Amino acid sequence: MSDHDQIQRILFDQRDIRGVLTGLDNTYRDALANHDYPPVIRRLLGEMMAAAAILSANLKFEGRLILQAQGSGAVQMLMAESTHEQKLRAIARFDAEQLDENVSFTQLLKGGALAITIMPLKGQRYQGYVPLEGENLSDCLEAYFRYSEQLNSQLHLACDGEKAAGFLLQVLPAEGGKTEDWNHLSQLGATLKTEELLELDNQTLLYRLFHEEDCRLHEASPVLFYCDCSRERTLASLRFMSEEELHEIAASEGHVEVGCQFCGEAYYFDAADITALFSATGQAPGSEATH
Ligand SMILES: [Zn+2]
Repeated sequence: MSDHDQIQRILFDQRDIRGVLTGLDNTYRDALANHDYPPVIRRLLGEMMAAAAILSANLKFEGRLILQAQGSGAVQMLMAESTHEQKLRAIARFDAEQLDENVSFTQLLKGGALAITIMPLKGQRYQGYVPLEGENLSDCLEAYFRYSEQLNSQLHLACDGEKAAGFLLQVLPAEGGKTEDWNHLSQLGATLKTEELLELDNQTLLYRLFHEEDCRLHEASPVLFYCDCSRERTLASLRFMSEEELHEIAASEGHVEVGCQFCGEAYYFDAADITALFSATGQAPGSEATH
């Protein structure tokens, strides 16, 4: 995978099918750097991140896409977010003692759900639920595209704990795609091996799969880890606690400390911040809104 931290479309001439390739290297390691996740969680989060990057490549507006898996067993939550510019972050919550390394994604989430949320900067948010079908995240997302969007899709996701990669082959929504075109390209796509997805650069991978096709790679765009947490939003998130409770903490500790779960950034709030949070305007001194 020489195409580190990039997302790149594949264009097929004369076929109403698109492809998207992504490779996450520093993006993946930076996103997990503040966490000591066990191998199975590292792998699954890598796949979630690659999937979020690929799905966000179809966003036609400014905003973010959130892929969130929730379960009631060993894994409580896996989440990967990507903005329309492929700025990614991810997080997991799990019970390490219950984790079984040899259990599939859908078994780890048994009884749970996988949701895709699209949050435009302006306008309505959209949420779709993904059936927990098959073994893997890619199986679940293929089912989602088939049932929710009536789009034939093939998704490959891979992560070795150090890097992650993804490849999507999908019928173009407007055209619907000719069945024989889909059958042909998806058969070629299905021969992709996990090691190839992780190790081959995009041009080599394209040649390996589709050398007899008229196809080419579109210009690549960057993917990176970025957490857009802020002092203002972190303070606002404290509203679920009572003002009295927060003042008690501030009085005994000298401040209320809140760490960002994604990037580890620590935010400190004093008594004046807390008073302002619960005042009519809700604007705390030192918050972004007053700068
Ligand atoms: Zn953060």
